Amino acid sequence: MEDCIFCKIVNKQIPSNIIYEDDKSLAFNDINPQAPVHILIIPKKHIRTLLESDDTDKELLGHLTQVARDIANEKGIGTKGFRLVLNSGLEAGQSVWHIHLHLLGGRKMSWPPG
Ligand code: AMP
Repeated sequence: MEDCIFCKIVNKQIPSNIIYEDDKSLAFNDINPQAPVHILIIPKKHIRTLLESDDTDKELLGHLTQVARDIANEKGIGTKGFRLVLNSGLEAGQSVWHIHLHLLGGRKMSWPPG
């Protein structure tokens, strides 16, 4: 998608601090971290929101959670605990319209989220 910032990161048209990459997904540091570890895991395929994903995306969405698990372990926050967030839509606070998982950790989290 031409005007999508995360597609531009996938295509290396704009820089990012890449943590992990494979044929289906990419993970990079969030530019405005909310925790000591704050990494975004995205599909290379442009999907605007979780609501707009379909059944053919099942495996891809599962893949993203496993990438998040592996990165959490690599970053040393796996057993301590970490949070995965997927904001979908305006009221959830989604600001980039390309599905992404936030992997947050390295500090004690509170609940409920704001
Ligand atoms: P959301 O509000 O769930 O859509 O999250 C979007 C996230 O993308 C925010 O945490 C932003 O800080 C992050 N973000 C926006 N632009 C970039 C960028 N160029 N590189 C890394 N993270 C970004």
